[in-house]
Amino acid sequence: MTEALFRDDAYLAAAEARVVSAGADGIELDRSIFYPNGGGQPGDTGSLERADGERIAVAGTVYTDGRTRILLVPGEGAVLPAPGEVVVQHLDWATRYRHMRMHTALHLLSVVLPYPVTGGQIGAEESRLDFDMPEGGIDRAAVTAALMEHVAADLAVTTEWITDAELEANPGLVKTMKVKPPTGSGRVRLVRIGDTLDLQPCGGTHVRSTAEIGEVHLAKVEKKGRINRRVRLRFGPLPADPDAA
Ligand SMILES: [Zn+2]
Repeated sequence: MTEALFRDDAYLAAAEARVVSAGADGIELDRSIFYPNGGGQPGDTGSLERADGERIAVAGTVYTDGRTRILLVPGEGAVLPAPGEVVVQHLDWATRYRHMRMHTALHLLSVVLPYPVTGGQIGAEESRLDFDMPEGGIDRAAVTAALMEHVAADLAVTTEWITDAELEANPGLVKTMKVKPPTGSGRVRLVRIGDTLDLQPCGGTHVRSTAEIGEVHLAKVEKKGRINRRVRLRFGPLPADPDAA
């Protein structure tokens, strides 16, 4: 089982690790700051620094073995490290930080648009959530203003763990959460924004406070079915021309 360092500290941009195994399908470390593709958030990229300073490119990160092990996908033609070798992991931090800001912004979007979420994808430039929501226009300016109000409020983003038993003993907790957590693995990580603004099970990486999200706007709404709406977020202010997004 790979120790998931990003789970306790999403801000770790570099950390030492020992190589467990290395092959064409991936490099396994004993501990990983690289987030594996999942939950709509892309797997991290970056590099591994060897003792002699040589860098091994990491083109992506994935889970394997039922999400118990993490594999770093080596870049095209990369030299593989040896098992037992100690390396320093370096994230492509600029990209990861944008993922963290976007990911947290999507939590806020699910607060502003309180409809069932049927899908989503995070990107460094643009992210989207798919909602089951009734017919009717979404006011891009109003949704953007509501999002920015939560950003400006500089709300703390914190995580807490609960056990399946605690969840069962507190049925009211599920009512406060938009998504019912998966049970069976023994414990579930919850992400909380503010005291009570949002609480939902999530394994992704988030910023520490909503102010770090910075300026975002609702870029586009597409109709994907009778009751399905795809809502896109982008960084920066709402463009004056709605079609410019
Ligand atoms: Zn999340």
